[in-house]
Formats: sequence, C-alpha cells, structure tokens
Amino acid sequence: MFNQVNSFIDGRDTPPLGAQYVDKIDPRTGAKLSEVANSEAADVAIAIDSAAAALQAWRDTRPADRGRILNDFGRLIRSSESTLGALERADTGKPGREMAALMDLTAQYFEFYGGIVNVMDGEVINQGPNYHVYTRRDPFGVIGVILPWNAPLHQAARAIAPALATGNTVVAKPSEHTSASLVELARLAVEAGVPAGVFNVIVGKGSVIGPAMAHNPHIRKISFTGGLRAGQELGHIAAERILPLTLELGGKSANIVFDDADLDAAAKGSTTAFTWNSGQWCAAGTRLLVQENIYERFLDKLVGEVAKLKVGPQDDSTSGPITTQAQFEKIQSYFDIAAREGLKPAIGGKVKNVPGHENGWYIEPTVYANVTNDMTLAQEEIFGPIVCVIPFKDEADALRIANDSEFGLGAGIWSQNIGRVHRVAAGLEAGRIVVNEYSGGFVQTPCGGFKQSGYGREQGVDALSHYTQLKSVIIRL
Ligand code: NAD
Repeated sequence: MFNQVNSFIDGRDTPPLGAQYVDKIDPRTGAKLSEVANSEAADVAIAIDSAAAALQAWRDTRPADRGRILNDFGRLIRSSESTLGALERADTGKPGREMAALMDLTAQYFEFYGGIVNVMDGEVINQGPNYHVYTRRDPFGVIGVILPWNAPLHQAARAIAPALATGNTVVAKPSEHTSASLVELARLAVEAGVPAGVFNVIVGKGSVIGPAMAHNPHIRKISFTGGLRAGQELGHIAAERILPLTLELGGKSANIVFDDADLDAAAKGSTTAFTWNSGQWCAAGTRLLVQENIYERFLDKLVGEVAKLKVGPQDDSTSGPITTQAQFEKIQSYFDIAAREGLKPAIGGKVKNVPGHENGWYIEPTVYANVTNDMTLAQEEIFGPIVCVIPFKDEADALRIANDSEFGLGAGIWSQNIGRVHRVAAGLEAGRIVVNEYSGGFVQTPCGGFKQSGYGREQGVDALSHYTQLKSVIIRL
C-alpha cells in the first residue's frame, strides 16, 4: 500500500471527490513512491470556498497577530526539517545540502514577512488644510498560488508568506510531481496557529486545476511560477477576467566573464551557476559568455571544476537526479540537437550511470564550447545541467549577446573593474544581476523577470505591493 498524497482543505486531509490518483515515481530510483490525488474542478471549488469563508476573520486579524503567527510558523518549519525536508527530497531527489539551504530560505520568508507586515502601511498626502487624504493597502482576497517542481517549498513560501502577511487567504497548487511537502507545510501552518481555511492546498494536474482556479470568481489574484506556455494560458483567462497575475517564468541567463576577473573564482562560481539543483533552476547561468583573450584558459579551468562534481543520490552529492521523467527525456533531446548543430561536449554529454541506481534520472553536467548565440542550445531554456560557452570581444559585444534573448531573468558579471561592473549591470536586460558570485540572491531582494521571463516581483519589501491593492481615502474637512 503506497502513501496517498491528498489535498489539504479547511485544516483537514481531503481526498479527491472522484477518488482518482496518479503514480508518483522516485527520481532517484525510478520506482513508485506514492499516489497523488488527481483532483477535479469540483475539488478546486471546495478549496476556494473554504479560503473565501476564512477571509474576513484573517484580514481583520491585527497585523501584529498575523506576524506573530507567521513567525511561529517559521520556527516550526525550522524544527521540522527532518520530516518536511525528507518529503521534498523524496519527491525531487535533491541532495542533503541543497535541501538544507532551501529549508532555511523557506523559514526565512515567514520570518521576514511576519516581521515587516508590522511596518507596512499607507501614507498621508498633504492637500492643504481643507482635506485629510491617506492611502491604505488592502488585501486582494483569495489568492491562487501555482507552483513548479524544482524548488517546491521555497517557491511556495516566497508567494504564500507575503500573501498571508498582508491579510489574503491562499489556495496553493503544487506541481503534480512534487506535492507532498506543500501538503505537509499547510498542515504545519495550522499547527502554528494559522486558522483552518486560510492556507489550503489543492493537489492535481495543472491543465485541470489552473483554469478552474483562474475562472473562479472568488480568486482575485494568481501568483504563477512555471513555464512560458502555462503562463500564457493563464494570461488568456486573466485577460477576460481582468485578473492580476504575477508571472515568474523561465530564463536563459547570461553569465559574463571578463578578462580582468579572478578566473579561479569565476570557474568555480560558473560551475555552480549551471549545475545547482542539476540545472533545474530558473535563473541558472546557462549562457556563459567568456572574453575571447582568456577563452581557452578559462574553458580548461571550467572543465576542471565540472570534473570534480559528484552526481548521485547521496547526502554529499553536488547534483541529484532530474525530478521528472519528461524533463529527463527533454534534456537528452538537447544532446541530439547539439550534435545536429555540430557541437561536441567538452565534458559530459550523456546520461549518467549511477551504480545501484541504474533506473534513476541522472544527467552528466555538460559543457558545450564555441557555441554561437543563435544556436538552439543558446536560445531555448533546457532546465538541466548544460552550459553553452560563448566567446565575446569587448563590453559592447558582451551586452549585445547577453541581451539577444527572449528571456531576461538573471545575469552574472565577473570583473574586478568597478566601472565596467556598473556599466554592464545597467545595460543588461534582466531582473537580477549578481557580481563576482552566482547565487540565488536573498529573501530580502526582489526577484522577477524582464521580457518573457515574466512580470511582477516576488521577494523583498516590494512583494508586499504585489499582494495588496492601494486605496486612496479623500476626506473634505
Ligand atoms: P510548468 O509550467 O509545466 O508547471 C508549473 C505549474 O503550472 C505546475 O503546477 C503545473 O501543474 C501548472 N500548470 C500546467 N498547466 C497549466 C495551465 N494551463 N494553467 C495553469 N497552471 C498550469 O513548469 P514546470 O515544468 O513545473 O517548471 C519549470 C518552469 O518553471 C521553467 O520554465 C522554470 O524556468 C520556471 N521557473 C521559474 C521560476 C522563477 O522564479 N521565475 C522559478 C522556478 C521555475
């Protein structure tokens, strides 16, 4: 008998009305792990009704009290790493140290927004002695949160924490491939004091739940993190309903190494940039732009760093498996495309055989050199551990290549020249620039995309304005 992952509605484990489930496969081994609810539109309506019923009391709760509850929730997340983290590791295959970092961030979102909600407020606008004019920030109401499979708890927390802090209630939909940790997160929320119904989870397929959620009149905003196609489909429905969206979509981020950089640090950081989470990372630095006068020297260092990586399911692995079978197959199709485009891997380029885990979904971290930016590999998001190394001449050439992409999520700059760093950061069309390392940023820094990488921002203080609507009150005295 396999564990069944159900929706969590109104404080309770809630099986689907149709009693339908789909198998969830363990990416580390290829064996069946659990059965996941395949909810229908009627289940979605129940979850949304519950969140609508819980709304008034939650939005009327004093910010100080909401903040305290969210801080208690953050503490509970920290003390639940062995259970919550283990569920996510089983679903995604993440190595231990990656999961530990993501658990810390997950808790931080509730701590940060639980604190800052106490200082969030409107402003008084001086219109002379005959008026008292002020603004206030009101919650939207019930917010739908739709999530991908690459970092389920992290992506969930960064949307749910500001939504709850500002007095909204939430119906969250995890990816059908990674539902278990989000269901447990909702259960912990109730244990921490979040009233039942304020944070519900509906489990099932996006093609059913996404449209059912977006068409439901109680849903007043959707925060979507995922791929371009599903984002566009939601956008069509949103256009009809004038439904506000935050869209956190894909990327093909440029990571630029200039000849004045610390090349050893750049080689190390650029390896992490495309292999963290086995490349299943929206802001992964997968277009590595290297100045032509250091190109060969840098490529040797990069290949040396990639050769040190340990791919496998062990606690100390640097890269785990690919989380879904479809993604595992998609990545392999890019090896064929690369061959057709005349590219040969400098390292990697095939499925990784991990002894004892022959049916797991492992990919060798792969470097393709001498790529030109017009090649398919340099233009399409692969979402796997594959980097394209592209030569450039000078600053202007680097910017031209970096911005020649439909995406604009992240970017990296490696240089010791402070003037160059600021010039290039100003010129890059991307939502977040990291200099002399390539990290995921901080809970406190806004995250979001330019161009087809989306709109709206998660994280940071700015996210509060994406989960509230501004109201002006004009009083004639
Ligand atoms: P996906 O678009 O396939 O799925 C994302 C979510 O949308 C899932 O919960 C899915 O069930 C749901 N969905 C599917 N069809 C839908 C529809 N028609 N309407 C509404 N929802 C629907 O993406 P994925 O494969 O889970 O995740 C990978 C993608 O997510 C990549 O493109 C990656 O770059 C992106 N991503 C972006 C960020 C960011 O912050 N910008 C973060 C992580 C992942």
